[in-house]
Amino acid sequence: MADLAVQMLNDVRVIPPNDDPMWPLWRYVNKIVKIGGHGRNARMICRLCDLDFSGSYSRVRAHLLKVSNSGMKPCPKVCIDVLILLKDEQDKADAMLVDDLEVLDNEAA
Ligand SMILES: [Zn+2]
Repeated sequence: MADLAVQMLNDVRVIPPNDDPMWPLWRYVNKIVKIGGHGRNARMICRLCDLDFSGSYSRVRAHLLKVSNSGMKPCPKVCIDVLILLKDEQDKADAMLVDDLEVLDNEAA
């Protein structure tokens, strides 16, 4: 198993006070300053590679999950084992989102 990858993520993960399981990758960046009043835009530093960037959760996701053609530099510290773990966390969050939408749909029907 990818014990080293698990260990690496355990070492850098910080659960924020306003942690939301829908946005699990926030746990791997250090949010510095909020830009504007909309809450989702922030300046942040990747806890894995110390890259300093700003933007929204989609940028965090693009960086950590190495989304191609996102305009975001992929995280050099995310090896394939780490990527699998991070993707798994995001997939679980996405699945919750789908569940929520289905509940809403059912209630609306
Ligand atoms: Zn990084």
